[in-house]
Amino acid sequence: MSRVLIIGAGGVASVTVKKCARLPQHFDEIFLASRTVSKCEALQQEVGEDRVKGVFALDADNAKEVEALINEVQPDLVINLALPYQDLPIMDACLATNTHYLDTANYEPKDVAKFEYSWQWAYQDKFKDAGIMALLGSGFDPGVTNVFTAYAAKHYFDEIHYLDIVDCNGGDHGQAFATNFNPEINIREITQRGKFWENGEWKETDPLSVREDVDYQNIGERASYLMFHEELESLVKHFPTLKRARFWMTFGEAYLNHLRVLEGIGMTSIEPIEFQGQQVVPLEFLKAVLPNPGSLAEGYVGMTCIGTYITGVKDGKEKTIFIYNNCEHAKCNEEVGAQAVSYTTGVPAMIGAALMLNGTWKEAGVWNMEQFDPDPFMDMLNEHGLPWHVLECDSSPFTK
Ligand code: NDP
Repeated sequence: MSRVLIIGAGGVASVTVKKCARLPQHFDEIFLASRTVSKCEALQQEVGEDRVKGVFALDADNAKEVEALINEVQPDLVINLALPYQDLPIMDACLATNTHYLDTANYEPKDVAKFEYSWQWAYQDKFKDAGIMALLGSGFDPGVTNVFTAYAAKHYFDEIHYLDIVDCNGGDHGQAFATNFNPEINIREITQRGKFWENGEWKETDPLSVREDVDYQNIGERASYLMFHEELESLVKHFPTLKRARFWMTFGEAYLNHLRVLEGIGMTSIEPIEFQGQQVVPLEFLKAVLPNPGSLAEGYVGMTCIGTYITGVKDGKEKTIFIYNNCEHAKCNEEVGAQAVSYTTGVPAMIGAALMLNGTWKEAGVWNMEQFDPDPFMDMLNEHGLPWHVLECDSSPFTK
């Protein structure tokens, strides 16, 4: 029998809850907790009380509160789908209660937009000694992109040398400006300086200053911008043969214009300001006025294409492959009432959890996705709504 406690009840969690609910063979009992309990109740109503057995209000910034809830629910695994700020308190609570842990985004301190695994990797010995496992970044990117890389290294190459992860959203939600996942986390990520790995060191670029026009499968050509993304850090550590590793994301002109204006007037700042006797963080206020990403699904047309271009050597010859998934917004809405960005994150979270619970991916310690055998995960992607394809290419599409 397996019991999971899912923390968070936003766009991603709603997909994971619905997917887990359909798989009683992996998830006998589901419990759901989040800051706003009414969101948990609404999800429970949708899915059924026979599948979501209990809902709770929880402030997951407070490790003691999480610990008390884990003691009450006694889950085998905690699936953290709240915000990156809550990763460490939830990991602390898992340690205190000897409970396995999974998340989809690396820890970030609230007061500084810094993306690195150091804080969570520091838990390695503690988790190992306690005999419990933490699986980090089981979303799409990070997550599936790490698994794609491991799959390529296992089946297609003797050595991998160049990695370009591409994330294209070719969809249109009809809003002037909206982000596809939590706006605060998303804007912190894309306004930071760009960073990529080359010849054994990190190189920095000005935010969104390096552009390539890439032709995406079933979408067409889109402007793609170099950014730092957290999976680069773990992938260059676990695949030391990589000479270069980069991450690219597509943005339309209208999106970038809005972002420039918002940045220019200080609305993306995370420095608190005094407003009418209150401390207000401009980015948190902006989040409150932007559309809720969970509400974008209705009428969202088009699809995503996310994948990894990998160049390396097989039998002495250089070759390049592209492993990717296309995910259609409207299909996700039809299936689980979500847009594709929530779907492509929520499904891998379910898959990572299922593999941990059935013992396929099970080892005490703190792990990134590429450290396990990619094959069972790749099979489950095909079975649960995220089919992937491998293209053998003449070369990578990048000119720089
Ligand atoms: P949402 O903002 O839609 O949902 C976040 C949920 O967490 C909300 O229900 C929120 O509650 C809850 N929450 C926030 N703070 C707390 C707290 N202190 N205690 C308890 N619950 C809290 O975000 P998304 O669903 O879009 O994203 C969820 C996670 O997925 C994020 O960490 C994001 O970075 C990650 N992600 C990963 C991707 C990947 O590919 N790896 C891609 C996209 C997202 P409330 O309703 O009260 O605000």
